[in-house]
Amino acid sequence: MFDRVEAFYRPESVPEVLRLLQRSKGQARMVAGGTDLVVEGDRSVRFLIDLTRAGLTYIRSRDTTCVIGATTTLADLEESTAIHALAGGLLSRAAAACGSVQNRNLATLGGNLAHGSPAADMATPLLALDASVVVADGEGRHKMPLAEYFGRAWQNGASHALLIEVRVPMPPQNGRCGWSFQKFGRTEVDLSLVNAAAGLQLDARGRVKWARLALGAVAAAPFRALPVESLMAGREFDHSLLAEAGEEVMREVQPIADLRASEEFRRELSRVVAGRALEECAARAGCSL
Ligand SMILES: Cc1cc2nc3c(=O)[nH]c(=O)nc-3n(C[C@H](O)[C@H](O)[C@H](O)COP(=O)(O)OP(=O)(O)OC[C@H]3O[C@@H](n4cnc5c(N)ncnc54)[C@H](O)[C@@H]3O)c2cc1C
Repeated sequence: MFDRVEAFYRPESVPEVLRLLQRSKGQARMVAGGTDLVVEGDRSVRFLIDLTRAGLTYIRSRDTTCVIGATTTLADLEESTAIHALAGGLLSRAAAACGSVQNRNLATLGGNLAHGSPAADMATPLLALDASVVVADGEGRHKMPLAEYFGRAWQNGASHALLIEVRVPMPPQNGRCGWSFQKFGRTEVDLSLVNAAAGLQLDARGRVKWARLALGAVAAAPFRALPVESLMAGREFDHSLLAEAGEEVMREVQPIADLRASEEFRRELSRVVAGRALEECAARAGCSL
């Protein structure tokens, strides 16, 4: 499928990657695990730049931030103790839901975010955690919120800028907090028809102090459902709040119809999946309905 490829480069540093990108004048593709790129089978590619030796495989947990290098595999995220300790293991649980073991051993976090799929399973938990990314191009390094990366980089062709790392601010540890990742696909190893990641803090009387909800596969890019979050803040977590939140979710989503599901099914499913995520958060925060 890469029958026009003239060279396969294995740079050992970020500056080397950037030099190769510049030299190839848009005719190169970066490759990490290759699990999306190979399926895509773009026959116009002339140069491939393998990122796996460029020094971007790391997980660094600091006081206020956890920093994850772009070529860290989903299997690494699934197993890392630092990632297990972050937001009740939200990112480990999402990583564990990405395809088969074989897939997760190759697939990288950077590839998942840079590929531009609205169904990328790592996108929603990272949005819920207020993550930002660092990218590099010929003009230097830039840090931006993940939501901006989805809006900006994907529009201009994400592969032209190197995604260096993802930075996750440590979420609040105090109080009754819970986090959840939920995914619905046709099979255990299939892409999401809908996915949702949520976080919730409850006060001593069971009222929502703050809520976070991100949805995937139901719009052009994964997004934070901010109206749902505002609607929930300060309210008692009960069945009626959950029903209201579900109605708002259905208003927020803009699903497409494709071979996997109809628009109507995805819209209804987004209510169900978001509801499950919020309910699991509340249960983890000590409030079972
Ligand atoms: C059988 C199968 C099952 C799958 N199941 C799931 C699933 O359940 N959930 C899910 O979310 N995904 C799934 N995927 C998709 C895929 O495995 C993931 O998106 C994976 O994380 C992609 O990472 P990669 O390293 O393989 O990316 P690659 O294929 O190497 O690259 C993907 C794209 O990103 C670009 N890229 C890669 N790294 C960078 C970087 N650091 N900076 C800039 N651009 C970069 C590449 O140029 C390419 O355009 C599945 C794929 C297969 C084949």
